Amino acid sequence: MQHHLEHQSPQFAVNSQFESFLALKHACTRAALLDVYEFVPDKDLDRYILKCKDKECVWYLYASTFPGTDVWRIRKSTQAHSCHGIQHSGHRNVDEEFISTEILPKLRSDPKFTPKAIQNHFKEQYGVAITYSKAWRAQEHTLKVINGSHEETYNSLSKYCQEIQRSNPGSTVQLDIDPTTNRFKRLFSSYLRELYRMPVDLLHWLPAKGTVEGSCL
Ligand SMILES: [Zn+2]
Repeated sequence: MQHHLEHQSPQFAVNSQFESFLALKHACTRAALLDVYEFVPDKDLDRYILKCKDKECVWYLYASTFPGTDVWRIRKSTQAHSCHGIQHSGHRNVDEEFISTEILPKLRSDPKFTPKAIQNHFKEQYGVAITYSKAWRAQEHTLKVINGSHEETYNSLSKYCQEIQRSNPGSTVQLDIDPTTNRFKRLFSSYLRELYRMPVDLLHWLPAKGTVEGSCL
């Protein structure tokens, strides 16, 4: 049975598109990890060129962006390696940005996902060793991204409360936050005379620890 090689997947064929540079870079790095090779990137504003670290290897990828957008398209692609890959346990293309994107869903559901657990994840998933300090920095960065999203969610809920009050003078609206967990509890509106509970997926976005607080009254 033929082994599936990620760098030969249709997403890297000519004319395939990626919604952002981050998505393109992440897919390229993930393929390099899964298929055990390293690449040398050359990037400027509107093009991204990858060659294999082995100078004799024929593998090649060239992508460019649509002017004025962050949508990227593969323009040229040689989806085969003539090299023998890498033999060492680390990986030069794994940066904090890649680690952060990988662990974002895990940290969202478990804020105690430790740097050690991140190291283990990379070992088990990709057979790659990353240093504790790199895992720690990626964890710190990812937590900031998550807390930023929490604040955005809270701010938009808060704006929603203000909008109800503005369009319905005399009404009261209260956004309750659990003082113990700082998680969103409920939204009460006297105008609507109903108690709203947020869907579970929105609760998921709110913080386990206190980065936001209070009500909009
Ligand atoms: Zn190669």
